[in-house]
Amino acid sequence: MSVVIIGAGHGGGTAAAMLRQQGYDGSIVLIGEEPHPPYQRPPLSKGWLKGEVDADALTLRPREWYGEAKVGLRTSTRVIRIDRDAKVVELSTGDRVSYDHLIIATGARARKLVLPGSDLAGFLELRTIEDAEAIKAWFKPGFRLAIIGGGYVGLEVAASARALGAEVDVLEREDRLLARVAGPVLSGFFREVHEEHGVRFHFGCDIAGFEGLDGHVSGVRMANGDVVGCDAVLVGIGALPNDELARDAGLTCDNGVVVDAEARTSDPAIFAIGDMTQRPMSIYDRSLRLESVPNALEQARQAAAAISGANPPKPETPWFWSDQYDLKLQIAGMPFDVDQVVVRGDPGSRRFSVFHLSGGTVQAVEAINMPQDFMVGRMMLGARRSVDPSRLADTGIPIKEV
Ligand code: NAP
Repeated sequence: MSVVIIGAGHGGGTAAAMLRQQGYDGSIVLIGEEPHPPYQRPPLSKGWLKGEVDADALTLRPREWYGEAKVGLRTSTRVIRIDRDAKVVELSTGDRVSYDHLIIATGARARKLVLPGSDLAGFLELRTIEDAEAIKAWFKPGFRLAIIGGGYVGLEVAASARALGAEVDVLEREDRLLARVAGPVLSGFFREVHEEHGVRFHFGCDIAGFEGLDGHVSGVRMANGDVVGCDAVLVGIGALPNDELARDAGLTCDNGVVVDAEARTSDPAIFAIGDMTQRPMSIYDRSLRLESVPNALEQARQAAAAISGANPPKPETPWFWSDQYDLKLQIAGMPFDVDQVVVRGDPGSRRFSVFHLSGGTVQAVEAINMPQDFMVGRMMLGARRSVDPSRLADTGIPIKEV
């Protein structure tokens, strides 16, 4: 028996390890386009930029592990085609590798901003170690960074850049931060904290193009004529699923590769995991494309269990985290059909949480420096039992008793 995994990122690397943990003893080939063995991306925007994390700490497993576990790791190698009839993947090297089961874990890529001037030098994005190195090389006191997009990438890099003394302007299209991933209470809170650290925000931005000097970007030009001067531009405007291989192979796709609760695609021999999948989310009775490490790991477990014949893992509640300055944000769940928002604690104290309820049931919790609220909120989500909002808001009642 043989498993081929396309994509040697966090999801693909974990799938290989899970297969071995679950007793799968057939051949495993793990193919990645990047020159590195699987590594963790979350520290890239935080500790890596600040020089607090080195390459060894990023690596998921040391290179020797792949030899010991008999996982054939092929880095700097691109899969160019999946031949489903022959059950073979074709590589950029001309090699063909056959499979009994295939796991696609190709992730997502940074969305590009194509506007007049975006071909000037000085544009940055953040997805890989090389991207993070390029950003880091710029950071020094007084350096002016314009960040387009006030999402996770934009805010985490803003915090790191300020820690290193750079000047930061964040230009966001929406009227609040983290609009895709968090509620308005959190958006307002993060705005305040970043402003205290000297970040300048511009909301409702309609960016028309870029100004240049000697071939290098020198400013971001808005449609209303305003210009924000800068020495470089970081574009953090979202991610697109790398689902082209799957689409070309005729697998069902709809904003990502459509998979079931076992991470199986429309071809029973092919699984897909991570950022590029459209997956069922039973607690919300809908399907979603989630961009998060915990999601990739959950699906890696699902696929490994299905292939090795182990018991399927229990469904998990989606969760996310972000570190900015001295703040640890943890989010569990998604705020669908919310009719009540309960704030527990005082945002001014920088330790509080926001519960999003629908018909008295917790749909999502956002916790700032409150790991216990996050953990209990996750359990509430899983239990689907209604809670008393007034008890939830009362910090005199320990969260476990709520
Ligand atoms: P994101 O979270 O989708 O945020 C992008 C933001 O940019 C959105 O608010 C978006 O607004 C805005 N935007 C889009 N086009 C724009 C434009 N032309 N001008 C100004 N603003 C614009 O994406 P991201 O921050 O780039 O993150 C990329 C990926 O990395 C995501 O998968 C993210 O989950 C992942 N990541 C996660 C973490 C974490 O979990 N802590 C950390 C870093 C990265 P609209 O909604 O209007 O498009």
